[in-house]
Amino acid sequence: MTKKTLAKTLGINLPSPLQRLEMRSAPGNELALYCKRDDLIHPVISGNKWRKLSGNLQRILQTSGCDGSNEIRNSVHIGSFGGAYSNHLHALAFACFSLGIPCTAFVRTHPNSPPTPTLEDMHRWNCRIHFLSREEYRKRTDINFVNALLKAHSLSHMIEEGGSNSDALSGVGEIVSEVLAQSEQPFDSIVLPVASGGTIAGIIKAIRQRNITAKVIGIAVLKGERYLESMVNNLLDECQTQSSWKILHEPKFHCGGYAKINSEILNFSIEFEQSQGFALDHVYNAKSFFALNQLLMQKSPLLGKRAIILNTGGMQGNRGKIE
Ligand SMILES: *Cc1c(COP(=O)(O)O)cnc(C)c1O
Repeated sequence: MTKKTLAKTLGINLPSPLQRLEMRSAPGNELALYCKRDDLIHPVISGNKWRKLSGNLQRILQTSGCDGSNEIRNSVHIGSFGGAYSNHLHALAFACFSLGIPCTAFVRTHPNSPPTPTLEDMHRWNCRIHFLSREEYRKRTDINFVNALLKAHSLSHMIEEGGSNSDALSGVGEIVSEVLAQSEQPFDSIVLPVASGGTIAGIIKAIRQRNITAKVIGIAVLKGERYLESMVNNLLDECQTQSSWKILHEPKFHCGGYAKINSEILNFSIEFEQSQGFALDHVYNAKSFFALNQLLMQKSPLLGKRAIILNTGGMQGNRGKIE
């Protein structure tokens, strides 16, 4: 199955719009700002999760000899990892359900905690849900642990947490090709949230391949200085941070950890939704758009004269309680 057929089967809407965004800025800060609306790609398989899954699903279906017939699909059974509000697992479960592929989610949560709306959706889409303790979950990149899960659950493929692996990069790179086709002039910077690093790695790679000078600015949504850089470098097969990209680790932006938010960012995201007409998720985009707001107010030279912010979609986090 080609990527095009796959996208068509799942009802994926591409290219996502590139729209003008008006945000308050420091006086005299003349800058054209655009938002790449990947939140509009699909109601469930939203944002960067489709970008990362497309290459993974295509490769899996290809290597399993799937031509779209149900018979061959029966040899495929995909597993993956995530939390109880994971946008990635939610998107994967829905994609597998639509394609008729069995799917097992390995979820970091206590088996006695009440099911989240995200897990309830996945259950409805026939996704098998297997709980992992925090200790077990920590072994998610350990090859022996993964092999044991593959065997015990009769899986044919395991996709890394968040869908971030080398197969994810080309699909993410399509964001850059779309932007270049949608915009008459080159852009100076692109801002996006960073958690497992697959999205920023795909953007960096695409920008290099096309010889563009734009700066890639990642906003860490968790406490991960150096750790996030090494994840990105691993995905890019590099060992040094290059000048073409930078991850900002300000505690003011990540609020001390994954899925943690403070009232300043929460209020910002409420005001943003009221003034701009689209919502930001609390785990990723509330933080990256807040960071952009701060960079605009500080007249940060990082942004240049034409900046793009990537809305990575994914609203599952907003179905949980706010910490
Ligand atoms: C997963 C996710 C991210 C983080 O992307 P990584 O590739 O893991 O860095 C950003 N935004 C949303 C909405 C997500 O679901």
